[in-house]
Amino acid sequence: MPIEQRVKIAAEKADLTPEEIEILSSGGGLPMEVADRMIENVVGTMAYPFGIAVNFRMNGRDRLVPMAIEEPSVVAAASNMARLMRDGDGIKTSTTDPVMIGQIQVLDVPDMEKALDALKDAKDALLKLANQQDPVLVRFGGGARDIEPRVLETEVGRMLVLHLLVDCRDAMGANAVNTMCETLAPVVSEITGGRVLLRIISNLADHRLARAETTIKKESLGDEKVIDDIIAAWAFADADPYRAATHNKGIMNGVIAVALAVAQDHRALESGAHAYAARNGRYTSLSRWSKNENGDLVGVLEMPMAVGIVGGATRTHPTARLALKLMGVSKANELAEVMTAVGLAQNLGALRALVQEGIQHGHMRLHARNLVVMAGAEGDLIQKAVNELVASGEIRFDKAQEIVKRLKG
Ligand code: NAD
Repeated sequence: MPIEQRVKIAAEKADLTPEEIEILSSGGGLPMEVADRMIENVVGTMAYPFGIAVNFRMNGRDRLVPMAIEEPSVVAAASNMARLMRDGDGIKTSTTDPVMIGQIQVLDVPDMEKALDALKDAKDALLKLANQQDPVLVRFGGGARDIEPRVLETEVGRMLVLHLLVDCRDAMGANAVNTMCETLAPVVSEITGGRVLLRIISNLADHRLARAETTIKKESLGDEKVIDDIIAAWAFADADPYRAATHNKGIMNGVIAVALAVAQDHRALESGAHAYAARNGRYTSLSRWSKNENGDLVGVLEMPMAVGIVGGATRTHPTARLALKLMGVSKANELAEVMTAVGLAQNLGALRALVQEGIQHGHMRLHARNLVVMAGAEGDLIQKAVNELVASGEIRFDKAQEIVKRLKG
């Protein structure tokens, strides 16, 4: 479809206003004055392609999935795999409560046992003080829920680390949690007799998990051998960190593309995902693929998903607000579920391509477009050059240069 037609369909489905449609074609959707308020020393803005993955059905509901990404073939792979998943029962998604962890590091504790007991006794008072820092969060049903003291043996000796568990509702929560930890610090110091050093959120958000699960009918994948090969490919990632890093990168292709479209803190998501993948002492796959009794393929992805739809840049960036509307998301946990579903679809796309034709087949066809543009093709010539390059079977830059030079005459 031409771009205008795609925009028209998306606008109809998501009920976009003329102003919102205008944002899509404004070359990034971020006015300079808004950018200038977001970070320091702003001299410009940097746009990414913003595409929509289709065919996603989650918990029986269809959703358009906006993705911002510079890598070709990700949006196509997500849409293709979502179509296969749709032929089954779609994707089942769920989340735990949106609980984040704040850490308060305490050094030089004179009596560890006494300190741990004293903290246990002070739990209610500490939670009350934490919640006084964010009455809005409490009003929305969130707030500090629990404390968990831990003792760490480190290079500089024993230290006490107090975890503060905070239900962040629709916020990512870093500001809320950090403020609470900083407020509790002097009180914790007094209770334990130690010296508080760091007071900061943990990005290993292992209380705030999102899960996506799907069953793909064996007929949709061709034959049972493909399913066995996909499971063998997953087992490779499960057993080997060298493979797991790339396997999980494929998952993050989907997760981060949606995160960028809605202006999430994607560094927080990346660090949380990889730390979670290594939680048992060895880095492994975030997903799991197996076969059910019918011989169908079953995939599950469970990972930390610290996302927010209030606060951060999500409310300030006009395209991010628009992306939430396109997705039909009104709660942070729904966003977390969409992102996990896309991660699972992306994972399947990579596994299927790898066990069949190899990753370069689909990738390089799309990459051909980049190559001919790099080689100087413009306007109508781009598609002609892409067709020739693909037909040549040698999708390389030197070949692209040769074709573009010839077509330009
Ligand atoms: P925030 O402080 O801007 O907004 C959250 C606040 O919004 C809540 O504390 C609450 O008072 C209010 N609120 C209104 N409606 C709410 C609802 N329905 N649910 C929950 N809260 C509601 O943002 P934040 O989420 O606390 O912080 C996110 C920002 O912190 C991101 O920009 C992130 O980049 C940044 N950050 C991250 C780290 C880290 O990950 N290590 C560290 C520091 C800062």
